[in-house]
Amino acid sequence: MNPPEVLVIGGGIAGLCAAIRARRSGAQVMLAESAPPWQRGGNSRHARNFRFCHEQPSPLAAGTYGATEFAQDLARVTGGSGDATLARVLIERSRALPDWLHGAGVALQTRNNGRLPFSRKTAFLLGGGQAMVNALYQHAEQLGVDIRYQCTLSQPRLLGNRLSSLRLQQGEQCQTLQPVAVVLACGGAQGNPDWLRQHCGAGVVNFINRGTPEARGEPLLELLAHGMQGIGDPSRLYLVAVDARSPPTDGGIVTRIRGMPQGLVVDRNGQRRHDEGADSGSTRYALWGQRLASYPDQIGYLLLDAAGLNNAPAALYPPICADHPRALAQQLGIDPAALEQTLQTYNAAMHQFQLQRAPQTASSTPVTTGLQPPRTGPAHPLKRPPFAAYPLRPGLTFTYHGLAVDTQARTRLTCGEPMLNLFAAGTLMAPNLCPQGYLSGLMLTIGMVFGSLAGEEAARYARSR
Ligand SMILES: Cc1cc2nc3c(=O)[nH]c(=O)nc-3n(C[C@H](O)[C@H](O)[C@H](O)COP(=O)(O)OP(=O)(O)OC[C@H]3O[C@@H](n4cnc5c(N)ncnc54)[C@H](O)[C@@H]3O)c2cc1C
Repeated sequence: MNPPEVLVIGGGIAGLCAAIRARRSGAQVMLAESAPPWQRGGNSRHARNFRFCHEQPSPLAAGTYGATEFAQDLARVTGGSGDATLARVLIERSRALPDWLHGAGVALQTRNNGRLPFSRKTAFLLGGGQAMVNALYQHAEQLGVDIRYQCTLSQPRLLGNRLSSLRLQQGEQCQTLQPVAVVLACGGAQGNPDWLRQHCGAGVVNFINRGTPEARGEPLLELLAHGMQGIGDPSRLYLVAVDARSPPTDGGIVTRIRGMPQGLVVDRNGQRRHDEGADSGSTRYALWGQRLASYPDQIGYLLLDAAGLNNAPAALYPPICADHPRALAQQLGIDPAALEQTLQTYNAAMHQFQLQRAPQTASSTPVTTGLQPPRTGPAHPLKRPPFAAYPLRPGLTFTYHGLAVDTQARTRLTCGEPMLNLFAAGTLMAPNLCPQGYLSGLMLTIGMVFGSLAGEEAARYARSR
């Protein structure tokens, strides 16, 4: 096998954009994807929207979203901890994404057809991430990218500030490859239980990986061991609340549970721990993921009565139902007396609250008194059967640990020297921009912008040799 000019490791959004861009720049490109064809596309196939800068309203997104506002949003959620120069690159290049996707055969969803949530800052993929991934694979194939499935790259070897070789494993075939330039786009490490346990504690066995099991982070961990400069925090995870009955990996977006404001949440001892109505906006999902991670055995239960069930957003799995709270507690394995006591206290506080509340103050801001933790927002006593529960677990979406990069997507050694032929894109370098917090649609944007940039730079390097 001839060594490729540009080797792209990983076939999610970042790798596909890198491969397409490098190929369009005239380089010979191999894309190695560790998954089989049916599972190609990593976490990217679960995504649905991306964030982009636009100065005009369009059929894709309502209103405008300028560079300053994008930068402010990013600085707010990260507490200003991201690299501002890279953020400028991200934001400026995000303008071109809808046209770029269109040119690569990816269809976008137009708004105002009633099927999408309102969005001013993001555009939605028609058919979701799976359709996007399929279109980009087809486009890459048509361009002549050499795509290898079930092909895993590991054991990177460095020579000074160059990557000299890697081990390629495809089925029985195993060989050492010496590509001219490499783009690492193999995602995070959320599919590596040993690594997660080491950095995040024993409780991670109870987390559910919403995405691909292929994201084991092996090249990242090996490169860090070889003296490459890391970025981010290995103990930080992006978690959301998911149904505890979800599959251990790849459940995707449909396993999310979102009805907390319609009911109350207890731990396995039947105790409330957090205010179910305090949070609004897209960040509330992530808050519940983090909270559940601190619950005993990392499990919680969303409790609803008939009224709550009517108002809660649709969920994938049916709720566990009973006519009486004690019977529900038995089904959940919670002490019935403890659960009943929690409900009595909650209902009494709600009743008191409703009596006190004057019609003109019936807004979402009042907080019930005499309840610990307090309860914010429009809430009602849980009285009308059936009583229902959704079991909840933290759902792992991605890790916040990767490789430091510069504005050419080049990785670097801990001494600060840039690696001339090793580039990184996507989740693997996202902590440069977003070391904490999150904005909806940000990860796809990072994958597309830095994937294209890394492909462009890798091709430039390879062609100059
Ligand atoms: C359920 C869910 C919903 C999401 N929704 C959104 C959303 O709406 N918007 C958004 O912006 N983000 C969303 N995200 C996050 C986003 O999907 C990912 O962060 C992003 O797509 C990652 O892109 P990537 O190319 O870096 O990694 P991935 O898409 O994970 O791709 C990495 C690829 O590398 C391969 N690989 C791994 N190791 C190796 C190896 N050693 N050799 C070869 N190949 C390897 C894997 O098989 C995989 O295909 C969501 C994530 C999940 C789990």
